[in-house]
Amino acid sequence: MGRGSAVYRRLMLSLFGNRMLGRLISRHGARLAGRFVAGRDRTSALLVVQRLNRLGIAATLDHLGESVRSLEEAAGFREEYLRLLDGIKLQKAKATVSVKPTQMGLALDPEACFRNVRQIAERAKKAGTSVCLDMEDSRYTELTLELVRRLHDEGHRNVTTVLQSYLYRSEEDASRLLEEGIPLRLVKGAYQEKKEIAYPNSEDILLQLLKLIRLHLEQGVFVAIGSHDDRVIGEVRAYAEKFGIDRSLFEFQMLYGLRMNVQAELAQSGYQVRCYVPYGRQWYPYFTRRLAEKPSNLWLVVRNLFR
Ligand code: FAD
Repeated sequence: MGRGSAVYRRLMLSLFGNRMLGRLISRHGARLAGRFVAGRDRTSALLVVQRLNRLGIAATLDHLGESVRSLEEAAGFREEYLRLLDGIKLQKAKATVSVKPTQMGLALDPEACFRNVRQIAERAKKAGTSVCLDMEDSRYTELTLELVRRLHDEGHRNVTTVLQSYLYRSEEDASRLLEEGIPLRLVKGAYQEKKEIAYPNSEDILLQLLKLIRLHLEQGVFVAIGSHDDRVIGEVRAYAEKFGIDRSLFEFQMLYGLRMNVQAELAQSGYQVRCYVPYGRQWYPYFTRRLAEKPSNLWLVVRNLFR
């Protein structure tokens, strides 16, 4: 990361990590999150998906919540995903779902988490769609990859996952996952990681992301690219153009509330675009990661308050 942005990010993540402040904002600040969150319940979220689909933009729905404290809580989240998938099927929505493994109990009991995700994958299959296991902080990288591999081994081919280009290990992981036929979303990475395991510099993170994307495009293997960065989007477009890579082999993914005009323009120009649509009551951690990413995101939130 550039020095300025690294300091900003550390500052924001530690500020918002303060428990008192967290409680205060969670209680009183739902309006703050409105810029990045599609609503408190799945009905609102599915309405947003309908609007996106009309613009030619697919969606991936995320029911917010992470690091559950009990397996009962995880089971509650699983049930919400099952109902969400029924809603997707009913609405014939062009949407997948994204799930945080720690919301399914990964940190408490990996076996229970496996069973929860497997149920979601089965329901997703019935809805004709797929499940992406989001990648959380580095404590869960290996466990998440084990989870997705095990699901694939059992025939649940509609489960995908994410690699973060800031982790040194991702290059090796990407090659292995490519061989194993596990589809990926590639991102820069949103958590605070030590320099012993992750590139601290934003230029290196960008170059690594481009390298991982190229690895897929060169081999003609589908890849989803989760980034708002013009340099990433521009490079991918230019590369695909130059080497005649079919547009069905890649997809741009961006977050709800960010660069919505760019998402619509790309879709209009014939690129596959998927918008990551989070909803639910537990918006605080997601919201703080967005604020930590860019000072301009903080500005978007402030402007939203005065609308
Ligand atoms: P940044 O590095 O934030 O910005 C780079 C440049 O892009 C900026 O300088 C600016 O020129 C341009 N830019 C960026 N945002 C804007 C904007 N809003 N308006 C105008 N210009 C802008 N992280 C994880 O760790 N795990 C996950 O599972 C995960 N899933 C994700 C899914 C999706 C669909 C997306 C989009 C991101 C996901 N992330 C995830 C977050 C990701 O890791 C990054 O933290 C986040 O996307 C910020 O990186 P960036 O490439 O978008 O741009």
